[in-house]
Amino acid sequence: MRVMVVGAGLGGLTLAHGLRRAGIDVVVYERDGASGRPQGVSLHVDDRGASALRACLPPGHVAMVEATTGGPRERTLTLAEVDGEPVATGVRTSDGIDGRPRPGRQVDRPLLRAVLLTGLEDVVRFGAELTRFERCADGTVRAWFADGRADIADVLVGADGVGSAVRRGYLPDVRPVDTGRRMIMGATPLRAVAGTGLPDLIGDIAGSAHIRGTTMVLGVLRFSQPPVQARRKWLPTLHPSAVAGIEDYVMWALPTTRERLGSGAVWPRAEELTADLPPFLRSVVAEAWRDATVALRIGTIPPMPAWPAGSVTVIGDAIHLAPGFGGNLAMLDARRLCAALVEANRGRLGLLDAIGDYEDTMRRTSFPSVGAKAGA
Ligand SMILES: Cc1cc2nc3c(=O)[nH]c(=O)nc-3n(C[C@H](O)[C@H](O)[C@H](O)COP(=O)(O)OP(=O)(O)OC[C@H]3O[C@@H](n4cnc5c(N)ncnc54)[C@H](O)[C@@H]3O)c2cc1C
Repeated sequence: MRVMVVGAGLGGLTLAHGLRRAGIDVVVYERDGASGRPQGVSLHVDDRGASALRACLPPGHVAMVEATTGGPRERTLTLAEVDGEPVATGVRTSDGIDGRPRPGRQVDRPLLRAVLLTGLEDVVRFGAELTRFERCADGTVRAWFADGRADIADVLVGADGVGSAVRRGYLPDVRPVDTGRRMIMGATPLRAVAGTGLPDLIGDIAGSAHIRGTTMVLGVLRFSQPPVQARRKWLPTLHPSAVAGIEDYVMWALPTTRERLGSGAVWPRAEELTADLPPFLRSVVAEAWRDATVALRIGTIPPMPAWPAGSVTVIGDAIHLAPGFGGNLAMLDARRLCAALVEANRGRLGLLDAIGDYEDTMRRTSFPSVGAKAGA
């Protein structure tokens, strides 16, 4: 069996590792260059993402990720200001209900991407934007790329994110809807705000402040092991630049709207939005790594009717959007699709039955509005 994955994001790379480990021929086509685009600094990985990584990645890769997560994050503190100092006035459990996060750990996103790319150097083709594909009479799929390349495989997987060219070609009626909500996200070196009292107050869990109409969410990533040491011990093939200069930091998020965000540079908007917050919160934004500040558009894809399984399928943001845990769902899809394709490759299930089973489960569990909860 030959599988062509479009998109070297969280889902596509997790899938590629799983297929490769099962001896299945896989190739990944990625539009961007090897360094990718900034997509935020850290990622809250819950049980769904963590179990997918454990199932699909080689043991050294898993050990490297686990050695460099932050501490367990199972609660969110409500933060307020008393006499200029940060205080906790309440606590909310991360139970995964009604859009609340599930328990998990913070992972450094660029480091995770570098770990995922390690060992796939001969599999990932960068600078290759899928432009179109065609299902052939013999059941295979042929794909064409903007740089003139073409390829053929038994299965084409769209892991190409929210703007998915695969979804547009395969399921043209399925369209993301812009909710108008936006999230500014950034990160600040821990050392720069150590004196505010915030990092000690929050510890490894999350904090949320709602003060004078502005909401700010914060979390500290203290690497469980120094990444340089962890690389030496668990994944020496990881490029040294992936761990060079990494330090503990505070990640922060500011929910806002399309209108309030406007256009232009993002970090100055964050500074304006936090102008009425107490100094200990303002300093988190003031001391941030400015280039790492990004604005996330919050979209949704409405639940869609089932479609007949074929040799083209989709995973992750290409087919469902879940603000705050889309990465976990993308990795979960990768794990499930990998297991289905392995069954088909071993002859235990027909290829289209295997893809149909994966798609049924994905449709049932990844759209909270239809009443089902995503489970591992
Ligand atoms: C700032 C920020 C913070 C986030 N925090 C969290 C979090 O804490 N927890 C969480 O679970 N999720 C989080 N998310 C969401 C998460 O990043 C996404 O849900 C996740 O990346 C989706 O994975 P994916 O593999 O489906 O797509 P992506 O990771 O978006 O990967 C898609 C890939 O496809 C490539 N591509 C696109 N079009 C083409 C084409 N035509 N041809 C070839 N390649 C193409 C893209 O370049 C990209 O590399 C966050 C997102 C952002 C932006």
